Amino acid sequence: MCGHESTFLVLPVCPVLSAFHGRLAGDPINAMEATPVQSFGTPMSTARDATNLVLSGLDADIEYDAPIGLRMTWYRVGGTADVLVRPRSVEALSVLLARAQERGVPVRVLGSGANLLVHDDGIDGIVVHLDQPAFREVSTLHRHRANRGGTTSDAGDGLRAMAGAVTERLVIGLAQQGMSGLEMMAGIPSTIGGAVRMNAGGKFGCIGDVVKAVGCLDMAGQPVTYHNDSRQLRFEYRRSSIVEPVILWAELKLEPDDPQRVHDRVKEIFAFKKKSQPMGEHTAGCAFKNPSPGTSAGRLIDEAGLKGFSIGSAYVSTRHANFLCTTDLKTARASDLIALMEHITAAVEQQAGVHLEREVVVWSRKSQPAGHRADS
Ligand SMILES: Cc1cc2nc3c(=O)[nH]c(=O)nc-3n(C[C@H](O)[C@H](O)[C@H](O)COP(=O)(O)OP(=O)(O)OC[C@H]3O[C@@H](n4cnc5c(N)ncnc54)[C@H](O)[C@@H]3O)c2cc1C
Repeated sequence: MCGHESTFLVLPVCPVLSAFHGRLAGDPINAMEATPVQSFGTPMSTARDATNLVLSGLDADIEYDAPIGLRMTWYRVGGTADVLVRPRSVEALSVLLARAQERGVPVRVLGSGANLLVHDDGIDGIVVHLDQPAFREVSTLHRHRANRGGTTSDAGDGLRAMAGAVTERLVIGLAQQGMSGLEMMAGIPSTIGGAVRMNAGGKFGCIGDVVKAVGCLDMAGQPVTYHNDSRQLRFEYRRSSIVEPVILWAELKLEPDDPQRVHDRVKEIFAFKKKSQPMGEHTAGCAFKNPSPGTSAGRLIDEAGLKGFSIGSAYVSTRHANFLCTTDLKTARASDLIALMEHITAAVEQQAGVHLEREVVVWSRKSQPAGHRADS
C-alpha cells in the first residue's frame, strides 16, 4: 500500500527510534489518551446518520463531541469535533475516506494541533487523528549494496516515518543514533504529517529540504506517492503542493554523522528558539506568514505598536510579535484570537500597506477541508 521505491530495503521498525513513538510529556495529546472513548451512540440528525454509516464497523476509536480545541491544540481554546476518529490501521483509514466521499461527509486531519485554531462553535464532519501505533512507525531505509559499491552504512540512508510520528522525538532519537538532517525541526512541535503539510521550518531549513518521497491517501482512500525528484512534489514557504486530504508517510534523506555533533546542533537550534520565542505559552507559533523573504511579519506587527496588545483572552507576545497567545484557560475563547488576528491585519495594512496572510490554520463549520479547497 505504501509503494516503496524498489531500490530500498525497508528494515523492521528501528528499536531505538521506536522508543520515541509516544507523545512528549505535557503534550496536549496526553490528556486525550487518558480519556475513555465514548460509546457509539444513535444521533438523530441526517449529518450524523451519514457519519454513522461511514463509521459503521470501522476498526477505530470513535468519540462524539470531542473537545479537540481545548484538549488537542496548542492554543488550548475552541470547540468540539462532531466526531473524532482514531483509525487503527491504514486500511480502516482508507475505508473511512472512501465512504466519507460517497456520503459527502467532510474529513479533516489533526496532527499535534500546533498550528491550528478551532472555532468556538466546533467543527463538522469527521476529524481524523493518526496517533495509533500503525501511524507512528518509523523504519530505517537502506539501499541495496550494489548501489553503493558494496559499502553500506549501519545508520542507513534515511528513514520512513508514518504521519503520526512525533517530530521532536525523531529529532532526539536521530541525534542519539548519529543521523543528521532533521535538526532544523528542533523546537518545532509537530507530527510528520503536519510538518510536511506546512513545510515547517525556519532559519535553519525546512522539512521539505530533506523529504525524498511522500505517501498520501486521496479522497477515495487510494494511495498516491510523490517523489521529490519530480515536479509533482514542491515545497514552498510554509506550504507543500500536496492536495490529497491525508499524508500517510514521508521518507527523509539523512546522513550519518557523529552523534555528539548532531546533538550539539539540536541543542544550538533549540536554544535559539527558546531565546526568541515564547515557548512555554499557549501559542501556535507564527500566526502570519512573512509577506516576502526580506520582510518579517513580526517586525511589521511590532512597528504597528502591537507587542503586548490584547483582546479578551488573546494577546500578542512581548517576546515575538508574530506569536499570539491565550491566557487563562477557563475564559479563553477562539473568538478572541480571531478578533486579534483581524485587528492585526487591519493595523498592519493601515500602517505599512502590507496584507498579512494567516499561517495558522483555522477550522470552522464554514471552512473547507483539504482536498476540497483551502483548509482555512
Ligand atoms: C511553540 C511553537 C513554535 C513553533 N515554531 C514553528 C517554527 O519555527 N516553524 C514552523 O514552521 N512552525 C512552527 N510552529 C507551528 C507548528 O509547529 C507547525 O506548523 C507544525 O508543522 C504543525 O504540525 P502539527 O502536526 O501540529 O499540525 P496541525 O497543527 O495539527 O495541523 C496543521 C495542518 O496540517 C494538516 N495536517 C496535519 N497532519 C496531517 C496529515 N497527516 N495529513 C494531511 N494533513 C495533515 C492539518 O489538517 C492542518 O491543515 C510552532 C508552533 C508552536 C506551538
